[in-house]
Amino acid sequence: MDSKSGYPQFSASAPAPAPDFGPPPPYQVENHPPLTTNQRAPLISSSINDTPVHYEHPIQTPKPIYGPYAQTDYCPRCKQTIATRTAYKVGFVTWVASAACILVGGFLGCCLIPCCTDFTRDVEHYCPNCHLKLGLHQRI
Ligand SMILES: [Zn+2]
Repeated sequence: MDSKSGYPQFSASAPAPAPDFGPPPPYQVENHPPLTTNQRAPLISSSINDTPVHYEHPIQTPKPIYGPYAQTDYCPRCKQTIATRTAYKVGFVTWVASAACILVGGFLGCCLIPCCTDFTRDVEHYCPNCHLKLGLHQRI
């Protein structure tokens, strides 16, 4: 170890010797019967129409997680990427908040306040072009 730098000194000209694993084990060759070209797989049915059938596999995209605000999404009906239109809907949290208002003495229709506020209602996401419902954000 070098006393000035405090780090151990390594020599680049003398690499560490490789470990000796010994000779490889002998390879075992198995004898298989030879393949013949005149053997054919049996046909399942000869009456099947020989026209090719093209199957379309839909592209599987992960379903997005919808939030309380408008977001970018793919509309399968319009086949394009759009920014969703949001609409608020009375949900479970709305009813719980209304019940809480009644329990704490809400009167003169104060229990209806949660039905008018956006942060207690669920949010539905629609396509702005074709009005297809794309998703729902529930408060709970
Ligand atoms: Zn659409």
